Amino acid sequence: MAGKTQAKQPGLKPGTKAATKTTPNTAAKQTAAKVPPVKAKTLIEKEKTAKVVPAKAVPPAKPAPIKPVPVKPAPVKPAAQKPTPAAASGPKPKRQLNGAIKVGIAGCAGRMGQMLLKMLSQAPGVLVVGGTERKGSPALGMDLGALAGTDPFGITVNDDPAGLFESADVVIDFTNPSATATHAGFAARGGTAHVIGTTGLDSDQQAAVARAAQKAPIVMAANMSLGVNLLEQVIEQMARILDSDWDIEIVEMHHRHKVDAPSGTALILGEAAARGRGTTLRRVAKRGRDGQTGPRAKGEIGFAALRGGDVVGDHTVIFAVDGERVEVAHKASSREIFARGAVKAVLWAAGKAPGLYTMKDVLGFNVGPSAPTNGH
Ligand code: NAD
Repeated sequence: MAGKTQAKQPGLKPGTKAATKTTPNTAAKQTAAKVPPVKAKTLIEKEKTAKVVPAKAVPPAKPAPIKPVPVKPAPVKPAAQKPTPAAASGPKPKRQLNGAIKVGIAGCAGRMGQMLLKMLSQAPGVLVVGGTERKGSPALGMDLGALAGTDPFGITVNDDPAGLFESADVVIDFTNPSATATHAGFAARGGTAHVIGTTGLDSDQQAAVARAAQKAPIVMAANMSLGVNLLEQVIEQMARILDSDWDIEIVEMHHRHKVDAPSGTALILGEAAARGRGTTLRRVAKRGRDGQTGPRAKGEIGFAALRGGDVVGDHTVIFAVDGERVEVAHKASSREIFARGAVKAVLWAAGKAPGLYTMKDVLGFNVGPSAPTNGH
């Protein structure tokens, strides 16, 4: 389908001929060649009104015909040391088109990718410049609008991540651990901001991300929702207040397609509890029980992972002592909460100094030490 689409990107004037292309590089060039006058006008008009609104109404998303592709879960290993943000070598000076942030989406045909496409196509001050998929994906060559359930973008899905990072100010990445580690290298090469939602990274992959963060701003969070980031703070405090007579157990449930367990979110909550107890999760985690396990060890933080149906993500942290029990839960009923967080991260990360950041930095409530880990 590549090169056959003659379409307009959401935000362009009706009738405007948009770029047709197969790579983000080409896309960027064509966009630069044809789109700026129209887009710039749109943006100037938006600035004049001081209230930026989407240029046109976007119909509700319809499920795209792309089936998620199962990926092999990465081995689960201990956390990498939290890297400190590197000395600023200068933000990527690429903001153009009257300040619009150019955004690329890696894994754009995935569940999160499609939702992000739709959300970003309606977000003010943002211009989607490309989307990638794995080699062999049936989505290659499709117009991004078909995936977003919107009008055509005039941009087709390709498998050139280097080109995507080159043409974008910020790339959002909800793919798989090995792809994400590779993508971080491209971010470092050009100083492109990288927003990582992928979970299940092993320690080597996390180290690759940490190295890249010395040259590019990277926001990494296993859960981009406001609620879970708040819960993390609450759990750390509860674990600090309740002594080790209180057993801590974490139960999570996700849809049947999830490939890593326990979930990255369960692990961040476990780390928060371990921090509250003055230890590390690696030392006290009990990741599943089966058979003759013997009695529970004091101080353990236990995990149970359930899989089934279309559950977006449920997490319950249980503090249990003789005679009473406190349970704190977060239930996600829509993936939109993650996508909303990711869009916030995009707006926040554009132009930031190199460093490894978390959603707590983005949300402005980073009250204690914590490391972005995305599921080790
Ligand atoms: P999904 O399987 O629906 O989508 C992943 C997409 O990435 C697929 O379309 C796949 O083809 C694509 N992909 C694989 N390799 C690629 C490559 N090399 N280049 C480009 N694309 C590639 O999965 P999903 O539900 O969208 O989740 C993706 C990841 O995000 C998972 O790790 C999941 O756990 C995580 N996640 C994180 C959050 C969060 O808030 N941080 C929320 C939801 C999901």
